[in-house]
Amino acid sequence: MEREQVYNFAPGPSTMPDSALKTAAAELLNFRGSGMSIMEISHRSALFQDVFDSACAKLRSLMNVPETHEILLLQGGATTQFAAIPMNLIEGGTADYAITGSFSGKAYEEAKKYGTAHIAANTKSGGHDRIPSQEELSFSPDAKYFYYCANNTIYGTEWQYVPETAAPLVCDMSSDILSREVDVSKYGLIYAGAQKNMAPAGLTVVIVDKSLAGRELPCTPKILSYKTMIETGSMLNTPPCWCIYMLDLTLDWVIAQGGVKAMEERRQERAGLLYDFLDNSRLFKPHALPGSRSYMNVTFRSGSDELDAAFIKGAAERGLVNLKGHKIAGGMRASIYNAMPVEGVKALVAYMKEFEVSHV
Ligand SMILES: *Cc1c(COP(=O)(O)O)cnc(C)c1O
Repeated sequence: MEREQVYNFAPGPSTMPDSALKTAAAELLNFRGSGMSIMEISHRSALFQDVFDSACAKLRSLMNVPETHEILLLQGGATTQFAAIPMNLIEGGTADYAITGSFSGKAYEEAKKYGTAHIAANTKSGGHDRIPSQEELSFSPDAKYFYYCANNTIYGTEWQYVPETAAPLVCDMSSDILSREVDVSKYGLIYAGAQKNMAPAGLTVVIVDKSLAGRELPCTPKILSYKTMIETGSMLNTPPCWCIYMLDLTLDWVIAQGGVKAMEERRQERAGLLYDFLDNSRLFKPHALPGSRSYMNVTFRSGSDELDAAFIKGAAERGLVNLKGHKIAGGMRASIYNAMPVEGVKALVAYMKEFEVSHV
């Protein structure tokens, strides 16, 4: 099968822009006239520093990151941040956690090791099919921060508002960063594993208010200290060079498409096509409730495990691949990140219609 014949709905690692992959392929053996691959040069070289600075500058401009905040490009994935966040910010005190899915639950479990983690809300009883309202959030008086996950990749729900609280906001934006406009100045810390919407796996973007750095617990490994990483320009050790290069190329593509605003318009179009169909379907039911629905991961099921399996198999035969839901959620999940063309979603909806007609 050729790449052109496939729409890849994988949740992460996931589809990347063709232009980024093509540039990487063209430059693979000879990076900008150096006679070496980007993978073969020192992270301390001027050649690589240019790539690093370029990626940071593009991200800062695309997301309007204020000068009060530092952009760190780190290793370890989003999961490392589950521990790094409390180690750096909880100071042996209390932090509030909204549990709206699997990853925020894991972050909460990690935080308990370093301080008092208070559950501000938990949507588990409803199968994580919604986002709590502002009124439902319970805050502790002296919370060091409020933690939430903006988009729940597994269950397909997404916060449609920014929670209001006195404590600094800490947010996992792994699966919706760069897909919508965000007022970064409202956040103490934003982080994202890159492999959903930005780059290959192995890179984590952390955007941190510099005034929050330097509060780490004494046991915090140097490699996890925001203060150290700010001081060393993310290069205490070797950063994920290849991923940073791919991030730079992906950001070129985002800029060429019209920036984050264009990404936001497109995500509305893509998700709109799917939810409009699902709301009128006689076979498929969306998992997430209106008002809480993700624009990035659309979860749905037919109500029968056999039909779900037949649907996923038939879709793959048509080049609509990786639609199987996460094992803890079941059913189907269409992950429609920035790089998914609207045509991919139209092809999926056309197949859903066809499948529905022959199975109802
Ligand atoms: C994928 C994902 C994670 C875990 O990312 P890793 O880089 O594999 O640690 C955490 N949070 C969210 C929202 C995710 O989508």
